[in-house]
Amino acid sequence: MVATPIGNLRDISQRALDVLAGVDVVAAEDTRVSGQLLRHFGIQKSLVSLREHNERAMAERIIARLAAGESVAQISDAGTPGISDPGAVLAAAVHAAGYPVVPVPGASALTAAVSAAGFNCPHTLFYGFLPPKTKQRCDALAALAPLPYLTVYYEAPHRIVDCLTDLAAVFGAERQVVMARELTKTFETIRRTTLGELVEWVKQDANQQRGEFVLVVDAAAEVEHTDEAAHDTVLAPLVAELPLKQAVALAQTITGAPRNQLYERALALKKAKQ
Ligand code: SAM
Repeated sequence: MVATPIGNLRDISQRALDVLAGVDVVAAEDTRVSGQLLRHFGIQKSLVSLREHNERAMAERIIARLAAGESVAQISDAGTPGISDPGAVLAAAVHAAGYPVVPVPGASALTAAVSAAGFNCPHTLFYGFLPPKTKQRCDALAALAPLPYLTVYYEAPHRIVDCLTDLAAVFGAERQVVMARELTKTFETIRRTTLGELVEWVKQDANQQRGEFVLVVDAAAEVEHTDEAAHDTVLAPLVAELPLKQAVALAQTITGAPRNQLYERALALKKAKQ
């Protein structure tokens, strides 16, 4: 599974070039697109077409080639195979047939956008393409809006305004978002703002409606689950008997609450007793 560039051809890896030059056959989505890519790097290779609609049948043919001792690389039109692209069906079939599936990592619009977004959130949910129709899109978004994870969407130019409009309606106009457009290409644009502001900005500038898009939406603000009174019940006897640090550490083990919250309460309880 070989990743190829998402725009800038210099993002190809040395290992990708070595593997593509070394395999017996390359399975590609659009053989014309991939033929051009390989020609650019001076690689002449026999190509077979593996697309969503024929992936199962092609997987069988590729396994037959593996059984005959050949090696096969799979690439998609751009980026990493299996990320909103064909690849998973082939990989599963190759695993099932007992042959190794080897990733050759590289560019993906997902990782490029998240790395530049600058949201300090430990969890990210990659959604990929949302449904094309507003009703289904809003239903899908309603389930995602309260999650404490960054959510990441791929979107096509003819739907970007509608998609942003629905995102702002469901997530709220104040939610932070990064729109990553035309990553690694000449007109790369990375804009971080609120959903409300972004819809207006994109609507007013037709240029910002062109190209390829990744949307990275900030996580829902953490809901305060802290039950202060319940934590105080645990903390109070510990604070009375133990040094503050130890009391907080034990209270954290018991309650699972964030350390800094417990520490603040422990300090308050200690002061109240003095
Ligand atoms: N497998 C690819 C990957 O690893 O990123 C994704 C393929 S998916 C069919 C195509 C979508 O990825 C586009 O509609 C867009 O949302 C996103 N995408 C691909 N290249 C991009 C780029 N250069 N800039 C922004 N988004 C891009």
